Amino acid sequence: MNEYNSENKKHWVRLTRVCNNNCLFCLDADEQDGSYEPTESILALLREGRARKFDQAVLSGGEPTLHPDFFAIVSETKKMGYKRTQIITNGRMFSYAGFAERAVAAGLDEATFSLHAGDPYDFEALTRTPGSYDEALKGFMRAAKLSGLAVSVDILLTGRTIHGLTGWIKKMSDLGASEFDILYPIPFGEAWKHKNDVFFDLEERAKDIVKAFEFCEERGVKAWSNRIPARVFEGAERFIQSPLKLRVEVEAKRGMFEALANRGVEPPCSGERCALCHVADFCRSLMKFSDAVASKKSFSILITKNNVDRIGWSFPSETETIVIDSLGILENEQMKRYFSKRDIRIEALVEKPLKNHQGIPDIISTVYLEINRETAKNLSNIRSALLDKVELKMIMRGRATLEEAVEKDVPIADFMQEYLRSGNMEIEMLNVPRCLTGRAETPVFDAAPANVFKNSGEIDLDEYVGCYMANWMSVKSARCAGCGHYADCPGIHINHVRAFGFSNIPFGI
Ligand code: SF4
Ligand code: SF4
Repeated sequence: MNEYNSENKKHWVRLTRVCNNNCLFCLDADEQDGSYEPTESILALLREGRARKFDQAVLSGGEPTLHPDFFAIVSETKKMGYKRTQIITNGRMFSYAGFAERAVAAGLDEATFSLHAGDPYDFEALTRTPGSYDEALKGFMRAAKLSGLAVSVDILLTGRTIHGLTGWIKKMSDLGASEFDILYPIPFGEAWKHKNDVFFDLEERAKDIVKAFEFCEERGVKAWSNRIPARVFEGAERFIQSPLKLRVEVEAKRGMFEALANRGVEPPCSGERCALCHVADFCRSLMKFSDAVASKKSFSILITKNNVDRIGWSFPSETETIVIDSLGILENEQMKRYFSKRDIRIEALVEKPLKNHQGIPDIISTVYLEINRETAKNLSNIRSALLDKVELKMIMRGRATLEEAVEKDVPIADFMQEYLRSGNMEIEMLNVPRCLTGRAETPVFDAAPANVFKNSGEIDLDEYVGCYMANWMSVKSARCAGCGHYADCPGIHINHVRAFGFSNIPFGI
């Protein structure tokens, strides 16, 4: 399973703005001016990272091995207390006798080689640097022979990479690569300028990508999927990238997303490239949310036991509806005070049917009954347990983690089959695509958790990312492409698909 370890605290520090390759897809080209970062500034950034409790230093560039103080900087990371020091390199400097040995002696633990194609002609068509294939491969082999140095490989998927992908992985694995990061290109820097050479027909090549991951799995070699659209992995969903990685992507463009969230500043990259962008769904979601906040739209606010302390905070507009995610929250003193001062509608998310309305206080007007293992057991009782007293709706909830999806969810298609048989079809269903419900619309639960707002009423970007991942990060099958409702369909939450696969969903209308 591609589970990303968000606890692994890596501190990325740039060493150079120069590179001895000239890659067709370079994301860093706009930042390069041929200079080296001053050593003192690099060390200051590394010290700052330690102060913030990062325990792994990742030295990057440009090409970090070109820095004149490279070995001294590696050595300093160890003196500062970093447990692990890694570099991201094109590998060419490692081809020089003694370079790898000096790097290891200085304290280098891991070298990640960016090696994107197995065929020398394709390799150098990508690096646009004659001789780079032989040097990089020689450098890799020298590094791989050293004990005490882990060598891993980054492979960017391009039209020139895919046809030989599995063979290339096999070769590098035979030579000692311990791990592979297989990346999908993103439409920035040189990759955007050369988009016709870099991007490729994903649907046509999906099988080749899956085959490479299956090969790694059989061999017991770790392969991470990185930014590869989930629909590629239909039938092999265990390779879908963990949604938690979104945090890293947002962090890389924090300034831009902060400006979008709270000042409504349209990202400068907005336009044609959005169609190829790995964070397009998140970006659209934040844009819509930010617009709604700016226009003082009245939100339903979701209160949970983890954010109930925010109930006194100022929300961007006067809220008319509060949704609580457990009935116990009504006993919270802050909540009682809040309700007593307002004429407010109160709704509740409920995990299992309650017998004969037991425990549903009168102030609750709507109950959202969760689709889960518990409710699936007792479908015939759903209606009698709750209707008449309150409005009842069924809801398919997002899950913050894969484990939670496995523990709580049932495959949605199985649930829907039973549900249709049970005769409850007049109850509204939220977040379930219409190809499963057979209904004309797919209503979406869009209450905003209270913690996505700061006390000032602004959007808290980090909380929004967490909320998006847990609730709204959905995916669609490649088979959805022909669906007339594609644009307004929410899809299925990514962790449900990771847990139960695309194939349990009868996509298509
Ligand atoms: S989706 Fe957002 S981040 Fe991506 S290119 Fe478009 S505006 Fe930029
Ligand atoms: S887009 Fe896909 S999931 Fe949504 S209704 Fe169409 S077929 Fe179903």
